[in-house]
Amino acid sequence: MEHMSGNVLIIEDEPELVQVLRDYLERAGFHVEAAYDGVSGLSTFQHRRPDLVLLDLNLPGMDGLDVARHMRRAADVPIIMVTARVEETDRLIGLELGADDYISKPFSPREVVARVRAVLRRAQPKKDEPEIIRAGEVEIDRTRHRVWVQGREVDLTPTEFRLLAALAAEPGRAFTRLQLLEAIQGDAYEGYERTVDAHIKNLRAKIEPDPKRPRYVETVFGVGYRFAEG
Ligand code: CA
Repeated sequence: MEHMSGNVLIIEDEPELVQVLRDYLERAGFHVEAAYDGVSGLSTFQHRRPDLVLLDLNLPGMDGLDVARHMRRAADVPIIMVTARVEETDRLIGLELGADDYISKPFSPREVVARVRAVLRRAQPKKDEPEIIRAGEVEIDRTRHRVWVQGREVDLTPTEFRLLAALAAEPGRAFTRLQLLEAIQGDAYEGYERTVDAHIKNLRAKIEPDPKRPRYVETVFGVGYRFAEG
């Protein structure tokens, strides 16, 4: 089994669930911190600076979305949202904060470990990729994790960043949703292709002058998406 280290913060109000997740993640080599409500979760986050946060949506007091917003303001940390119902996921990804991934309850702890690994892997820049990508009016600095559109800096979530970098590295190439899913996740697991659409929507809202008529990230009907050529 691939060894991967890192600090994972679990914010979840069900102690049994925290215990199971902690066991599996620690066995996989991660260091785990846990908090049982949003306020103490944020406090732990600020002190420990985890590499990834597993965040329950339905928390007592401050809910998961508010917690995510606060964390996003402070750091570019990958967030995996844990939701009780599948129907909530559209709402989650559709939100501007853009969780990097989500897991619906009930889930297998094994699946959670796989997701944590995938999200952490994609958060690290690959060695063989160019540090700076310039595609027309878009400039991407992989090392510093920053993006400029027409000279204006835009804030992207780690997932939106990976998505844009994959597309802009090869302008004109049509990517299928599955290929984009692989690009943003580091490797293919049984993901949801419609997740890509939700992230593209958020990305367009941030970089396109008119998201309804995109000039950078174009839809390729029946296929997926491509970055516009020159
Ligand atoms: Ca809960």
